[in-house]
Amino acid sequence: MTITLNSPLDMHLHLRDKDMLSVVAPLTSESFAGALIMPNLVPPVDTKESLLAYRDRVLDATKGDIFKPYMTLFFRDSYDYDFLKSFGDELTAIKLYPAGITTNSEGGVSGFDLKKLAPTLEAMSELGLPLCINGETNGFVMDREAEFVPIYAKLAAAFPKLKIIMEHITTKESVDALDKHENLYATITLHHLYITLDDVAGGMLRPHLFCKPIAKRPHDREALLNVTLNAHPKVMFGSDSAPHPREAKESCGCAAGVFTAPVALAALAQLFEKHQKLDNLQKFISDNAKNIYNITPPAKKVTLTRSPMEVPASYGSVVPMFAGETLSWSIKEII
Ligand SMILES: [Zn+2]
Repeated sequence: MTITLNSPLDMHLHLRDKDMLSVVAPLTSESFAGALIMPNLVPPVDTKESLLAYRDRVLDATKGDIFKPYMTLFFRDSYDYDFLKSFGDELTAIKLYPAGITTNSEGGVSGFDLKKLAPTLEAMSELGLPLCINGETNGFVMDREAEFVPIYAKLAAAFPKLKIIMEHITTKESVDALDKHENLYATITLHHLYITLDDVAGGMLRPHLFCKPIAKRPHDREALLNVTLNAHPKVMFGSDSAPHPREAKESCGCAAGVFTAPVALAALAQLFEKHQKLDNLQKFISDNAKNIYNITPPAKKVTLTRSPMEVPASYGSVVPMFAGETLSWSIKEII
């Protein structure tokens, strides 16, 4: 059994910088045709110079592969129309990390000052630039995402022409919001389709599965699986693959993030086959993202076959999801 995917896309990816960039970027660019690159470097990517320079470093690290980095800016409410327009095709989206959101829902919404955000969000609406949001409050860790859903709703209503991407959704509440607001979309990770909180902390603690948003309850994962396996047109794959060196994960003070880039396609094929939904994988891995972002990625055909992939114990200093395990699918050919 084989499946050929056209131009797979990862619409939420952390590539880091410097040595880590050179280790992890090729692990995505080998098998993906493009990826939306997150801007949360230190300092964040928030100028034209830093965006273009980061794009060049990414291209350098992925040299030899057919791969398009779709670049993002770190949200600032000072961005205006002319500034954003000056990027032309070099800018694909803007990423917003909410700060100072409080736990009580009214306070949370008012803490997210729409008036202050409006000039930038209106410019983005006019330019057709999507807004990607890391939608969590500062509330109790299991409730942070669900508490943010009313803020998504408020933004969607206030800026009806703005495409809003709910990043790495993990809850049934977020899934339900997709069909309530025309301009809300979502990315879903590989790991949130596979694990619940039980896998992270139900037995011995598994630091390599510790991530934010934290994995949730079985009924949340069911809701994610339902829209993913049925290729709901408003959801797309975004790995949120986030590499940390082993010592930052296996430590007192474990960093959040699961590294899935090199296993993503094989593990998705395994999952879709298990549920007899392989025919829908193309939409989830590329077609929906092309429609939502209005992009034309480079042509790339990735053929996967139902033969085992032994997942390495590590890539450089980074331990991947499924390290040391065997996946039932593997990549056969990339052209
Ligand atoms: Zn992320």
